[in-house]
Amino acid sequence: AAVPEPVAAAPAREHVEAPAAATLVEVLQWHAQHWRQRVHVRLLHDDAEVAALSYGALLDSGLQMAAGLRRTGLQPGDAVAIMLPTGLEFFAGFFGALLAGGVPVPMYPPTRPSQLEDHLRRQAGILASCGAPVLLTVAEARLAAGVLRAQTPTLRHVVTPPELQEDGAAGTAAPASAGGLALLQYTSGSTGNPKGVMLTHANLLANIRAWSGAIALAPGDVCVSWLPLYHDMGLIGTWLGSLYNGNPLVLMPPLDFLSRPVNWLRAIHRYRGTITAAPNFAFELVVRHAARAELAGLDLSCWRLAINGAEPVSPDTMERFCAHLAPAGFRREAMTPLYGLAENAVGLTVPAPGRGPLIDRVRRDTFLRRALAVPAADVGDADAIRFVGCGRPLPGHALRVVDAGGTPLPERQVGRIEFQGPSATAGYYRNPEETARLFDGDWLDTGDLGYLAGGELFVTGRVKDMIIRGGRNLYPYELEEAIGALPGVRRGCVAVFGALDRATAGERLVAVVETREDADEARRTLVRAVEDLALERLGLPLDEVVLAPPHSVLKTSSGKIRRAATRDLYLAGALGSRRGVRMQMLRLA
Ligand code: ATP
Ligand code: MG
Repeated sequence: AAVPEPVAAAPAREHVEAPAAATLVEVLQWHAQHWRQRVHVRLLHDDAEVAALSYGALLDSGLQMAAGLRRTGLQPGDAVAIMLPTGLEFFAGFFGALLAGGVPVPMYPPTRPSQLEDHLRRQAGILASCGAPVLLTVAEARLAAGVLRAQTPTLRHVVTPPELQEDGAAGTAAPASAGGLALLQYTSGSTGNPKGVMLTHANLLANIRAWSGAIALAPGDVCVSWLPLYHDMGLIGTWLGSLYNGNPLVLMPPLDFLSRPVNWLRAIHRYRGTITAAPNFAFELVVRHAARAELAGLDLSCWRLAINGAEPVSPDTMERFCAHLAPAGFRREAMTPLYGLAENAVGLTVPAPGRGPLIDRVRRDTFLRRALAVPAADVGDADAIRFVGCGRPLPGHALRVVDAGGTPLPERQVGRIEFQGPSATAGYYRNPEETARLFDGDWLDTGDLGYLAGGELFVTGRVKDMIIRGGRNLYPYELEEAIGALPGVRRGCVAVFGALDRATAGERLVAVVETREDADEARRTLVRAVEDLALERLGLPLDEVVLAPPHSVLKTSSGKIRRAATRDLYLAGALGSRRGVRMQMLRLA
């Protein structure tokens, strides 16, 4: 396709954030009052602009949705499940829920009904947990919605946006306060079932204000995104952040990016995008699937911040991405790894903008045996483990690394990452047990391990993914990535975990590796290569290498590997079986 002519998404202008707003509703009202007609979101599809949404139109459509929601009998404080794809109706539905006094609960939108088993099980879990009486979805999802309704007694109405907006009557805005719930945000469910994080208007605005300041968001910034709207980084980090700050958002559906990654880059070029956010796998997709020829003529020198977060950040991916896009004017300093979690709205630590990647190389043996991040002797130490600096805590937020007993550790010692601050949730909705586990006194436990060095946070991995073996603390990520780079392996589709062997009561070290290879000799070679890598990276042999067909490794709807769930399939002998594959297909949107 021809290189698109750049267009101005918005004229350069004065700073427009809504400083005094106490709720998201006030934020929207403020913008609608100051510049009704100004474009808030441009929607792209197949590389073309298909719709534009102004602040005024968003408020109007939200008020119509609110009127429709009230007609269903929605009561103040009720959860409103929103299972809509990327589109104008999502924004209207989200604000409709708030304007009606309800609490939006964004959910992964449905895929083809024949592949819905695992997906529906998770959705039913979310609906039961939040108790939403209303599910807002598209007509195409009627079938799936019917199944969900049959499984969830609390769900009384399944409605579509046109049904809610039928008579065009606008409701009035229900009273809202800073301390009221603005969102139930379900975690990705990487380690178990998704949990409903309670976030108030104050939590969300504190988080948006803190990271907007930390990344020096300015009036001329243009955000370009393909992230789905049902997870924190797409919802809060991209959409609500753009709304609050008054920065234009150029948005395309996830599939537009996943099927053709260069679409993201073309939109950045065309709209002179300055800010993006995406998980590491997206950068990897660009390197592998945006061919140099497709990049010809693109000017990406406008790209100020390429935020990389939500899953482990790979030093290799960053290096390859910077090299691949340098000819298009991409600047290495733009690469911005950061760390966050749903329990803190979205962001928790961020580096100074424009600093570029900071990579710490530490001695492998000391790290594995003593959980100490001792700097490697010299750059020639090929055996060093590399960790990526994810920045410092947001202004107003605090972070510490503690041992198992909760005692703060000195720098460069690996321990649990805990945090506190104005964005932090008060807990999980109607889930006192998980809420109790989340808190360590006044601090919240992230469930992640890491260390501090020079005040910068380095995340080493999740507590639940760590494998303790022979006195060593093993993390799956580096090995998974190395295995993924072997020829014949489906990159990003490898899971390494420890599985309790019931017979011996010992823990088996297992690698599940997706491949399409079916020749015996090639498979044997692959297994040997995987075994060699494990010895090299972990210093221990694997007990089992399972070569499995595509879609055997379970993932979340955001593409994160579900190691515990994959281990359960392994233990049940169901890996790569029709049922296992079917369960995994469900995540493909
Ligand atoms: P669940 O809590 O249901 O198991 P989840 O933790 O994946 O799912 P999210 O809150 O969406 O749900 O994701 C936050 C987690 O993602 C963090 O706790 C961390 O494990 C991981 N993560 C986020 N950013 C980074 C990063 N920069 N490096 C490593 N891991 C990260
Ligand atoms: Mg989590």
